[in-house]
Amino acid sequence: MPTYGSPEDVRKAIEELRDALPGKNRVQTSPESLQVHGSSDHSYHPSCSHSVVVMAHSTDDVVKVVNISRKYRVPITAYGGATSIEGHFTGFPSGSICLDLSAMNSILEINEADGDLRCQPGAKWEDINNTLKDRGIPLFFPLDPGPGATIGGMIGTGCSGTNAVRYGTAKAEWFLNITVVLPSGKVIKTRRRARKSSAGFDTTKLFIGAEGTLGIITEATLRLAPRVPTKVAMAQFPDVEKAVSAVQQILNTPYGPNIQCVELLDDHMMAAINTAGVVDTPYPVQDTLFFKIQGSPESIRDTSNVVQEIVQTHGSTRFEFAATEEEAGEMWENRKYAFFSTLATHPGSKVWTTDVCVPVSRLPQLVYETKEDLAKAGLKSTIVGHVGDGNFHALILFKDEEELRNVGAAVHRLVHRAIQMDGTCTGEHGVGVGKTEYLVEELGEDTVELMKTVKNAIDPLNLFNPGKVRNPTSDGGQR
Ligand SMILES: Cc1cc2nc3c(=O)[nH]c(=O)nc-3n(C[C@H](O)[C@H](O)[C@H](O)COP(=O)(O)OP(=O)(O)OC[C@H]3O[C@@H](n4cnc5c(N)ncnc54)[C@H](O)[C@@H]3O)c2cc1C
Repeated sequence: MPTYGSPEDVRKAIEELRDALPGKNRVQTSPESLQVHGSSDHSYHPSCSHSVVVMAHSTDDVVKVVNISRKYRVPITAYGGATSIEGHFTGFPSGSICLDLSAMNSILEINEADGDLRCQPGAKWEDINNTLKDRGIPLFFPLDPGPGATIGGMIGTGCSGTNAVRYGTAKAEWFLNITVVLPSGKVIKTRRRARKSSAGFDTTKLFIGAEGTLGIITEATLRLAPRVPTKVAMAQFPDVEKAVSAVQQILNTPYGPNIQCVELLDDHMMAAINTAGVVDTPYPVQDTLFFKIQGSPESIRDTSNVVQEIVQTHGSTRFEFAATEEEAGEMWENRKYAFFSTLATHPGSKVWTTDVCVPVSRLPQLVYETKEDLAKAGLKSTIVGHVGDGNFHALILFKDEEELRNVGAAVHRLVHRAIQMDGTCTGEHGVGVGKTEYLVEELGEDTVELMKTVKNAIDPLNLFNPGKVRNPTSDGGQR
């Protein structure tokens, strides 16, 4: 059973961190910095400030911090873009070090001919894609989670996004290798740069979705994809069931691989977009699909014809393409900024975002039952979904503590509903502290036991982000 350092140990660790990383603002203990780094506007799980925030500039810095953490038994939490949603980077009650990697944000190497790129963990996916575009390189990195997310955090959460229907998730092969500092202080590189390798276990994957509990990523080689022309379309439906059955049929045609994204926005979300003032002409308030179709001009034309035909046979009441690049950009922004539209239309409210995923055919039932449940509980919400993957987010509004408790209970019911449909408690946001209690129900005790075995082997002192992914009661340390 690991035990953690005393307050005196934490004080000594901070002193030693100051000596090891001299320079302005490298080691921060101001209440503002501790608060910002330990809590999030996107998470309503109980949070706890860290004892100290350390800004890393290199792999060597990370090794030094990890060694000090081990010497004084002070837990350590990696921090990237801070866009994660389930309390992933909150502090530890007996004292903790927040290791902020956001300044390690350089692109180190672009191998255009090989279609890969090496970068530091603080590089943001949007900056990587803007850099490639600015340099005239016809490639991009297709994982697209929240605005501001970094490569380290994206690996940490096992993220995905709107592009997942075509390109898969972080758990596909988008990371050719990663450099990781282990709890022992050893630095490993999981693989070389070859596109494929069957040399032993897939140690890269071990760290994808590990939420900083097994190692701290200090470099990654990303696989890139060719940038392909796209066309954006919108289809509206009388209900979610018709929308989802249209998507299933489209994805199963030979034109399915040309669908880059297909997103569902429910009628409440469409109303929020209208009233948030982000569109010139309001949309009809109906369950809506947004499509991004990709390919050569001919394949976009053929795919568009098939999409239009299929949505019509499934009762679509309105179908239209964005007429210009600008309109396409606007249509897509409306989807990407769903969270902010929901907030803007309910001044004074906060939003709890949750995320579950089920086999696609179960999605209409899940959405229907969830909307009914939320209405019965008197809660307002909007729904957005990466419908091609069966992944949906309920953005549930609340104003006070009582409503917050109601939201928590509704999320709990939603997660159970999803697991009962052979789904998962999280399609892409990860476990953090918010979803730990569901892992045994979803995966079974023996599978969770295997995760514990791996964790104990790599981090026997349980110093790396304790309480995340695993239930805190199984962590053993002092709380
Ligand atoms: C408006 C909005 C929309 C979103 N949409 C999506 C979406 O479509 N799809 C999706 O998947 N997610 C989405 N998210 C969630 C979020 O963007 C992702 O979880 C993202 O991957 C987190 O990256 P980050 O850099 O912000 O990580 P952080 O929040 O900084 O950290 C996340 C976790 O990774 C760990 N970590 C961070 N850096 C490292 C490192 N170098 N080494 C090891 N561990 C590390 C942290 O300790 C933590 O446990 C959304 C969030 C918001 C606010």
